[in-house]
Amino acid sequence: MNTHIAFNKPWLTGKEITYILEAVQSGKISGDGIFTRKCHRFFEEKYGFHKCLLTTSCTDALELASLLLDIKPGDQVIAPSFTFVSTVNAFVLRGAEIIFADSEDQTPNIDVSRIESLITPKTKVLLPVHYAGVAVDMDPLMAVAQKYNLPVVEDAAQAIDAFYKNRPLGSIGALGAFSFHETKNIISGEGGMLSINDPSYAGRAEILREKGTNRSAFFRGEIDKYGWVDIGSSFLPSEVIAAFLYAQLEHLEEIQKLRHQIWANYHAGLKDLEVAGKLRLPYIPGYARHNAHMFYVLCQDLNERTALIEHLKSDNINAVFHYISLHKSPFYQDKYKGPELQNSDRYTDTLLRLPFYNGITSEEQQRVIASIRAYYGL
Ligand SMILES: *Cc1c(COP(=O)(O)O)cnc(C)c1O
Repeated sequence: MNTHIAFNKPWLTGKEITYILEAVQSGKISGDGIFTRKCHRFFEEKYGFHKCLLTTSCTDALELASLLLDIKPGDQVIAPSFTFVSTVNAFVLRGAEIIFADSEDQTPNIDVSRIESLITPKTKVLLPVHYAGVAVDMDPLMAVAQKYNLPVVEDAAQAIDAFYKNRPLGSIGALGAFSFHETKNIISGEGGMLSINDPSYAGRAEILREKGTNRSAFFRGEIDKYGWVDIGSSFLPSEVIAAFLYAQLEHLEEIQKLRHQIWANYHAGLKDLEVAGKLRLPYIPGYARHNAHMFYVLCQDLNERTALIEHLKSDNINAVFHYISLHKSPFYQDKYKGPELQNSDRYTDTLLRLPFYNGITSEEQQRVIASIRAYYGL
């Protein structure tokens, strides 16, 4: 029997435990210590974000964004339906109504050409998601945002080190939210970050993240005592998490090289199946430089995908589907008043993610490729 090929395995650079020990021995393991500052500086210097704030998850970064934008009951937020629940839950928590937009035909990303027709006087935010680290078409999206004076929050959970026309994802909208969950490219178990590109949000973001206090300014010596100045919550991770994350960041280039090789192997091994019309591979628009976050195939329909998952399972390979359109979720289906979203539903039914992690060997990848080819009789 072949050994099991997992869908995901966390990958360590080797320095994580050393840095965690350093953080513990420093005597300060609450948030915003040396390792948090190192992580902030790394991201700000490498990607040019105006300001970064580590959070305990991307979900928290999105909740922080929703607070910052003063989302209130009845406000509308435009987001894709084919996304993770946190993208919109952060805004639903503040009472927002989600106006779901369909995906593009060619990628699971929001179809930017449909956004303007969904805008009403209640619209408060545009919320694009860069699925699989492949950029949403941001120029036309930002043009619509500008025309209606709407802030843009990029859900860049999957998009670290990915680009739109050479601009880092998460640096284009007013705010961006990243994830370091163990299934992402760069990990800290759970973890996230808010990137702040519109400087007018920077001061308040710090306060909301620190329980509504101006403690951050106090620690910098800018004020002589700190107090309760706004609403807020506790979104900052401990130094233990930041230490782990920093060990990963030091190896970002190496991790990305590994992942691009894995992505290229799958693409090369499955390309002729696409040419033969058996399945579709990820489409990368000319404006997008993706980050090899995942590799998916698109089957003809739900039955075929179910059969392919079973076939791979019989070869001891774990491949998994992804989101169920949120407008059809048990929570939102009764609230949804919009039209059918055909592309979103098609990705719900046909998208299959292949095993993808930094440590996967080329032999394991060849087994996945051979199993898929065998399913299609090649
Ligand atoms: C992973 C993910 C999230 C949530 O990230 P957490 O860090 O687990 O909160 C949100 N949106 C998208 C698109 C994701 O892929």
